Amino acid sequence: MTVIGVTCGEEETKVFLEKAYFKALQACGAVPVLLPPSSEGAVVARYCGLSNGILLTGGADLDPFYFGEEPRGTRRITPERDAFEILLVQKALELNKPLFAICRGLQVLNVAAGGDIYQDLAVLPEALDHWQRAPATHSFHRVEITPGSLLFRFCGQESLRVNSFHHQAVKHLAPGFLVSARALDRTVEAIEAPLYKFILGVQWHPEALWEQDKYQHSLFQGFVAAASEM
Ligand code: MN
Repeated sequence: MTVIGVTCGEEETKVFLEKAYFKALQACGAVPVLLPPSSEGAVVARYCGLSNGILLTGGADLDPFYFGEEPRGTRRITPERDAFEILLVQKALELNKPLFAICRGLQVLNVAAGGDIYQDLAVLPEALDHWQRAPATHSFHRVEITPGSLLFRFCGQESLRVNSFHHQAVKHLAPGFLVSARALDRTVEAIEAPLYKFILGVQWHPEALWEQDKYQHSLFQGFVAAASEM
């Protein structure tokens, strides 16, 4: 049995999960388990013990406090979730747990590992549109995939069309990470950490695309396969 611990979205008095995430995991034979936020190291350690792999889902902006900046362009923040996910990523890296990070998740992953992000892509004059006014099932812009990367292994091609719902992106990459995909404006669209078993972050939302795009499906399959060996 492959258990995937999944982080939750947060509203004032509730946590929640968009259905698309657990459906993608179920389709790969995994058992998704929700991980409600906690700032206690012992709880986070138990979560990691329970999970064969960790899925970091999309959501609100990360508090710039975690990368040493004052707020400038950051929108809604979910403080409990931030504190929890930073701890969770650090624990997962320490244990070499397979980790798949989507959208906000990629940004949390990069910051927890020592990198930072642009608080708002609008500061970059050359930035393309990264917030599509179209359904999430619509692939909106192209990304170029780094040959030889883990991502390339699952996609098997140097170009992929993806959806896009982000106004932030990686600025400085965390030590030990590499860029596995960029948009044509050079925006970082995927990162990975080759010294680990499976650490992959994508800036787009494959959970909305996997039913129609076999390459997006293969990302979930590859992640669950790596987790099943834990
Ligand atoms: Mn994008």
